[in-house]
Amino acid sequence: MWHERRCRDDGGMSECDVVTVRGLQKKYGCRVVVDRLDLDVRAGEIVGLAGANGAGKTTTVECIQGLRKPDAGQLRVLGYNPATQSARLRPLVGSQLQDSALPDRLRVSEALGLFATRRARDGGELLEQFGLAQRRRSVFSALSGGERQRLFLVLALLNRPRLVILDELTQGLDPAARRNVWAAIRQLHAGGTTVLLVTHEMDEAEALCDRIVVLRAGRVLDAGTPAELVDRHARRATVTFTVPDRAAACLAEIRQLPGVQAMDMPSSPRAGARVTVLGDRSIIAHVGAILVRGGTVPGDLSVHVPDLDDALQSLLDRPGDDAPAPADLKTAGNDLIGGRR
Ligand code: ATP
Repeated sequence: MWHERRCRDDGGMSECDVVTVRGLQKKYGCRVVVDRLDLDVRAGEIVGLAGANGAGKTTTVECIQGLRKPDAGQLRVLGYNPATQSARLRPLVGSQLQDSALPDRLRVSEALGLFATRRARDGGELLEQFGLAQRRRSVFSALSGGERQRLFLVLALLNRPRLVILDELTQGLDPAARRNVWAAIRQLHAGGTTVLLVTHEMDEAEALCDRIVVLRAGRVLDAGTPAELVDRHARRATVTFTVPDRAAACLAEIRQLPGVQAMDMPSSPRAGARVTVLGDRSIIAHVGAILVRGGTVPGDLSVHVPDLDDALQSLLDRPGDDAPAPADLKTAGNDLIGGRR
């Protein structure tokens, strides 16, 4: 959802952006793990950060929240500089991070009391929404992995944040809990909350994100809507079937279709042989039409339509010159402000 606001540009940082990152660089010791990264998240958007393990996604969101200090670059989050104004930013941002933990003996209800500010929503409603109402009295150590994950989500949403940062939102959740969490994120979106989501799950990204930014070795490989990324990086559809009787003429016709890029089949096609046709999406309809005209639709006809997962794979498999650049930092620093690692 895009909320109409008048924007003023200020050196590449627009007032409409909830998050603006320019040239972010982060090193651990002499390894550059985030390398001149630019990122914009506009008000009301859900933006996904995707990429292989170690691509720098978590480090980036930690810098955005003021949990880590960047080595270079400019960051603006809800009008604040997270590196120097994190105390002012913190009440406006709700986050569910990887590897979060609470004291073992803390009860769910006590955690809500501990985290709630004056802006807090009704914690009971949130527990209900995320299927934790029956666990109010449970201590943290007694919660399952999925319940802990949902509790952190409840805590992230408790104080009506303007920006929600979710790192591997549904990792370890069962399918029903996953659907509940997605529905809750859609509700937040409808209410105008901005969400930055780190995810490896491309079905999740496709279902929730307005835009996805793909990182490799700390750099942006590409960004766009799920449909744009699929269109740019996974255009090939596959149609597979067993050759019906009297179908040799069909195969010759299929081979001539303009969108067909390759066909995998025996050198002398015969009934009963498996055929795979690769091509752009238009071949799906045309191959189907030819088979129907030929009089028999194979019972095992199957179609693979490329999706975001295929697009991400092809993007990440692409050769590139993006090995992390060495840096001449003298000290290895674990400078996490108040948390992970
Ligand atoms: P994943 O998908 O596995 O969560 P990620 O994209 O979130 O990965 P980061 O957690 O940001 O990646 O890590 C980026 C790189 O930085 C990794 O190679 C990681 O090992 C390294 N790294 C992260 N934190 C530290 C630290 N405190 N000290 C040294 N290296 C670190």
